[in-house]
Amino acid sequence: MMPAKYTAPRGTQDFVPPESARWNALEARIRTLAERFGYGEIRTPLFESTELFVRGVGDTTDIVEKEMYRFRDRSDRDMALRPEWTAPVVRAALEHHLFALGPLRLYYIGPIFRYERPQKGRYRQSHQFGIECFGFAGPEADLEAIALAWELTRVYGIGDAVLNLNSLGDDECRPRYREALLEHFRPNLATLSEDSRRRLERNPMRLLDSKDPADAPFVETAPPLESMLCGACREHFEALKAYLDLAGIPFVVNPRIVRGLDYYNRTVFEITSSVLGAQSAVCGGGRYDGLVRSLGGPDVPAVGFALGLERFLMILEALAIAGDSPRRGVQAIALGAQARAALVPIVTELRRVLDEPTFADYQDRKLLAHLKIADRNRARLALILGSEELAAGELVLRDLENRTDRRLPLGPGKDVAAALVEGNS
Ligand code: ATP
Ligand code: MG
Repeated sequence: MMPAKYTAPRGTQDFVPPESARWNALEARIRTLAERFGYGEIRTPLFESTELFVRGVGDTTDIVEKEMYRFRDRSDRDMALRPEWTAPVVRAALEHHLFALGPLRLYYIGPIFRYERPQKGRYRQSHQFGIECFGFAGPEADLEAIALAWELTRVYGIGDAVLNLNSLGDDECRPRYREALLEHFRPNLATLSEDSRRRLERNPMRLLDSKDPADAPFVETAPPLESMLCGACREHFEALKAYLDLAGIPFVVNPRIVRGLDYYNRTVFEITSSVLGAQSAVCGGGRYDGLVRSLGGPDVPAVGFALGLERFLMILEALAIAGDSPRRGVQAIALGAQARAALVPIVTELRRVLDEPTFADYQDRKLLAHLKIADRNRARLALILGSEELAAGELVLRDLENRTDRRLPLGPGKDVAAALVEGNS
């Protein structure tokens, strides 16, 4: 085959059948689940003003420092493709005065764009499902967010999922922790990675997130924040742990979870799976009580998460959970022009009443070639009309799974459809 002249941009993917059906099925389950928890969908533009992300995500984050798809539009506005959803969600909620109505629960599904080095589980366009729960300062909302993400791993039976939990403290205890980290890292400044040296004074907590081997020995010996939490943060953290026990959700406290975004405080969590390899996190989230205010809004406590759909589907594939898609639908097979015309009212009716696909093919082919196409479509049934059947006023209905035939009278479209729907149940 000739190599394609045009290819998808590096780090992006096309999704074609049957892969796209797996995406649709996952998204449908997600929507059902989010709605069960009382969340409504929000959709925001694919691009926003760059300033929103610089303010919202924080200018010492990977996202803002090096990952944004940033461009000037024709009126010289500084814009960026959405690299994450939380800042746009808060922007939209403020713009439409949604916080005035009290607690607010929103979910989203859609693409994000980050200029990253493409590798397994890491793309330049990827897709996230996430939720944001606004208006509750207590640990009940943290539990709700975690429970929703965890439920998704449970309904799919992902046995190796691990919930990693940590607390980042707040404005009271974090400055003390910052000092402790500075003291810990400063003596080793010369041996740290370049990124870490640059970040140390501005945001020492980010060093704990470093994946650079040069930093590993110092990250390992860094003091854990949990030991320095103030009374209120400790209480919040302990209450959340007790709630997780009540909900039957297992977790491990992992002091290395600091998250790459600046807006988090108190609770942070990640769900990891061993099958993902180096990019082990499928879901990350936490509490961000200061973000709404920092984007010009009122004091609104908030908690949320984002889950990577590519990585989630990779887990399902690795664990062979999705499996082979079952056969669905009917392949309408006409042999010859006259039969093709006779099938038109029947196909029309089937597409009105059947909740499964009705496939049709309009070429003159041998029956065997038609059946091959039916297999490729993974049809469950074939409705066959050749000249013999036409003469006898009959149709052959073949079950493609069991290879058994049944004859139906070639009547009006709705009679055939009724016979088919009946045979279905
Ligand atoms: P990572 O540690 O993998 O860089 P992150 O901390 O940047 O993740 P978040 O911004 O919290 O991730 O996004 C939440 C989830 O979105 C991640 O756990 C992951 O599943 C997914 N995700 C983030 N960036 C990408 C990407 N470039 N390609 C695919 N999935 C991604
Ligand atoms: Mg990242």
